Amino acid sequence: MERRIDFSRERHMLCGGCGHEFVVDLDWIDRWEQSGEKCPGCGLTCEHEGAPRATVDPGDPALDDERLPQFFWYHTSTQANWPTRDYDPAGDLTAETRVRMGGGDHAAAWAVRQRAKALHVGTYEAAVHNMLRRMDHQADSRSQFYLYRVRLRPDVVVRDGWVVDPSDWLGDVVLAEVCPPGIDVARYLNYHEDPGGLSLALGRNAIASVQEIAIPLPDAWDGDWAREAIVALESASDVPVPATGKLARFMPQSSPRATVGRELGQALAGRLPVNLRGQFESAVSFDEGADPLLWARRTSSLCGLIVDPQRVLAALDAAEHRGV
Ligand SMILES: [Zn+2]
Repeated sequence: MERRIDFSRERHMLCGGCGHEFVVDLDWIDRWEQSGEKCPGCGLTCEHEGAPRATVDPGDPALDDERLPQFFWYHTSTQANWPTRDYDPAGDLTAETRVRMGGGDHAAAWAVRQRAKALHVGTYEAAVHNMLRRMDHQADSRSQFYLYRVRLRPDVVVRDGWVVDPSDWLGDVVLAEVCPPGIDVARYLNYHEDPGGLSLALGRNAIASVQEIAIPLPDAWDGDWAREAIVALESASDVPVPATGKLARFMPQSSPRATVGRELGQALAGRLPVNLRGQFESAVSFDEGADPLLWARRTSSLCGLIVDPQRVLAALDAAEHRGV
C-alpha cells in the first residue's frame, strides 16, 4: 500500500528545553537553522543544547502496528541487487587494507560486524533525500543509484513505539541492538532524511520482496525544460575564461557554459522544498566538459523524483518482484 508522498508536509517539533510541541513548515525550520526563529514555548534558539528538533507526527500511519507491514517501504543504494544474500563485506578488501586493519583476524571480525548491521528502509521521501545527501558528497556525486520498493513479510513482529535515530553518520546500526530476539522490525525517528519521518531498522528476513529501478530514470521528467537547457548550454562557450575582479587570481577558471549550467541548476533547485535545495544544487553541479544533453536529462529526471513521484512509482509498478 502506498502512502501519500509529500516532501513539503509540515513537521512536528519537540523542544528539549521546555517540552513544548508545535507544528511548523519547512521554511520555519530553514529560518530556525539560521537562528531566525525561537522556540515558541521558552525562546531557545538553535544554538542551544536541548533546542527543538523534529519529532514523530502522532498521526503518522506507520505508528499502527497492523498497517506498518502493509505499507511500501523504500531504500536507495549504489548497490545493485540489494539486499545481497551472500554479501561478503571482506570480499572487496585489498591485501593492503587487510594489513592496515591489523591482519586477517581483524578483517574477519570487521566482516562479522558488517554482516550484523541492520538494513534500513523508510518513506519514499527519506529514500530520495538519502540519495541527494550522498550525491552531495564527492565519493558518490556521479555514482549510479538504485531505488528499491520493499514489501515486508505480513507477519513481522514490530517493536513497540519508536526509538530515536540510533545510527551514527554512516548509518551503522547493529541489528540485535535495535531488534532484540523475537522482534523483526524497529521504528526509528529519522533526523537526517525526511526529518520527523519514521524509518525502519530490520534484518533481511523481514523482507518479502523488492522491486528495483535505476535512478534517476533515463529520460527527462520535463522534456521542454531539458530541450531549452540544452540549447542554452550549447550556445555558451565551453572554453574556461579567467575570472575578473580583485580576487580573480584566487578563483578557478570557469567556462560560460559551466556558468549557465550552474544558473540552470540553481533555478531548478528553487522550485524544490527548501530543505532539499542545497543538496540538489550540489548533485546537479555542472562539471567542465560535461555533455549538455546528458546533464540536462539527468538533472531534469532528478528533479522529477521530487516533484513528480507518480512517474517514478509507475516505473516501479512495471519492475519485477524479486524474492529476498
Ligand atoms: Zn522550548
